[in-house]
Amino acid sequence: MSNENMAELLFPDVTQLPADIYSLYPPRNLSSSALVTRFAPSPTGSLNIGGLYATLISERLAHQSNGVFFLRIEDTDKKREIEGSIENIISSLLYFGIHFDEGPLLSGDDKGAYGPYKQSSRIQIYKVFIKHLVRNGLAYPCFCDTDDLQKIRISQQNLKVTTGYYGRWAKHRDISFQQAKEEISNGKPFVIRLKSPGSSDRRITYHDLVKGPIELPENDQDIVIMKTDGLPTYHFAHAIDDYLMGTTHVIRGDEWLSSVPIHIQLFETLGFRIPEYGHIAPIMKQVGNSKRKFSKRKDLDGTAEYYKEQGYPGMAISEYFMNLINSDFEEWRMTNPDKSFREFIIHTHKMNASGALLDMNKLHDISKDVISRLTGNQVFDHLYTWSKEFDSELYTLIDRNKEYTLNIRKPEL
Ligand code: GLU
Repeated sequence: MSNENMAELLFPDVTQLPADIYSLYPPRNLSSSALVTRFAPSPTGSLNIGGLYATLISERLAHQSNGVFFLRIEDTDKKREIEGSIENIISSLLYFGIHFDEGPLLSGDDKGAYGPYKQSSRIQIYKVFIKHLVRNGLAYPCFCDTDDLQKIRISQQNLKVTTGYYGRWAKHRDISFQQAKEEISNGKPFVIRLKSPGSSDRRITYHDLVKGPIELPENDQDIVIMKTDGLPTYHFAHAIDDYLMGTTHVIRGDEWLSSVPIHIQLFETLGFRIPEYGHIAPIMKQVGNSKRKFSKRKDLDGTAEYYKEQGYPGMAISEYFMNLINSDFEEWRMTNPDKSFREFIIHTHKMNASGALLDMNKLHDISKDVISRLTGNQVFDHLYTWSKEFDSELYTLIDRNKEYTLNIRKPEL
């Protein structure tokens, strides 16, 4: 009863139950071998090539299995949002020929029956599940401010124990209804934390699609699932959305690998089927004799936009990425020079578990090949659209001499 009262105290306006939400997201009508994948960027800048690479993998896995690939914008961190990012992401995907079946469109509308596809439009859905967890004693409000958290950390450091909000250190784990009511009437902001059933002495094991068997300590931290502004954290929204949207395979950067114990715990606590995970290493840049990660701030050639500006056809980048995804693509291409790269079947277990190197010479060779296979009209269309945006002098010239440009031939030697 007290959990029920607590849930009502915290979320008086939330009247729906999880069952009401489930009825809006029926299982997808797909064959059992079809994969549902997604690209879930945060709108915090332009699309980088690592994101593009991961997206091509997700898109291929879905479409080669007659499944669904969708785009979801993870915009719950309003402070980090950069204006224009969503448009940049959508138009980059279009340019690179990565077709999404569902997701937000440039018009501002959504396409697909499993939306909304922007997390900021899904706040009420998250609240239904958070209230449900509170009602079942699986989550609780925490009124600690930064000072309180700092005090806990200092005591833990003095005792040389793991820092964080867990176990006996989780001050508000057993907060009473009365106490919460008082804090709220005093206007004290609160977050909602998951009451972690985990212990750092135990380990979880799972099979990563790219990295193979993985073993990690269980999560024992009472992680925040709803922030003081009422928005969910990334971890929580990921579990809710990927479950409701029917995602079967999550392909993402390996910076998320250490979050898997949190994610598995969330899926289990919510009673959701856990998706398969594949974590890919970042694409590396060759600098002199060494390799390093692309830097967001320093490397212009780390953005997808750069390759568009430089005039690489989107298809050439995708074709090049296929070589990085599975090394036997090259051999396949030699025996199938005229087929679309989309006819090659990719396998996650054949992917390179450590960072693939972006080899510019190879990219140039492949781009030349791709361009040489285009018809005169296709080359013209590409040049026309590209110059319109990036080279006005060339654009004016070919616009005035369309026929002439179309008929330019390589001189016979
Ligand atoms: N929004 C997360 C990001 O920006 C998505 C991670 C995931 O794919 O689960 O990387």
